[in-house]
Amino acid sequence: MADEDYDYLFKVVLIGDSGVGKTNLLSRFARNEFSFESKSTVGVEIWDTAGQERYRAITSAYYRGSAAALVVYDVTRHVTFENAERWLRELRNHTDANLVVMLVGNKADLGHIRAVSLEEAQAFVQRERLFFMETSALESTNVENAFTRVLTQIHQVVS
Ligand code: GDP
Repeated sequence: MADEDYDYLFKVVLIGDSGVGKTNLLSRFARNEFSFESKSTVGVEIWDTAGQERYRAITSAYYRGSAAALVVYDVTRHVTFENAERWLRELRNHTDANLVVMLVGNKADLGHIRAVSLEEAQAFVQRERLFFMETSALESTNVENAFTRVLTQIHQVVS
């Protein structure tokens, strides 16, 4: 479908430390089009940092015009969860208040070496009013769900 055939086209940005699995989440999510019960068709354009986060080189152009963000951490590396708070702050400095934000704890398949508990993550999402999901890009668990949930939420905000 060409861009002009969509009722809506939403930009979604992926942020989080290097190595948390952003690129793999993106490649697991093959769909770029959704149809809702209202019969509207929504296109989605997902932006990945392409490694720029390593150099803290993410500019406001990256965030501009986004409708949603996935803030990703790695459930086996606590420091990536701590940094999620910094990513969230940066995000909020660059975007408006009705941006839909989901915290994503990736690599949930590595539960035996988990370093971030569900309770800890849930306390953070409640405090910051975020959506939340644990995913595994490796096993394709919840990846589709995470994107669908975010898109459904954006769609409700705009329609
Ligand atoms: P990015 O730097 O955030 O884009 O992270 P990548 O997508 O490049 O992933 C970093 C590393 O983590 C790679 O070696 C991936 O194979 C691995 N990885 C990504 N997602 C998962 C996952 O869900 N489970 C496991 N076990 N490894 C993953």
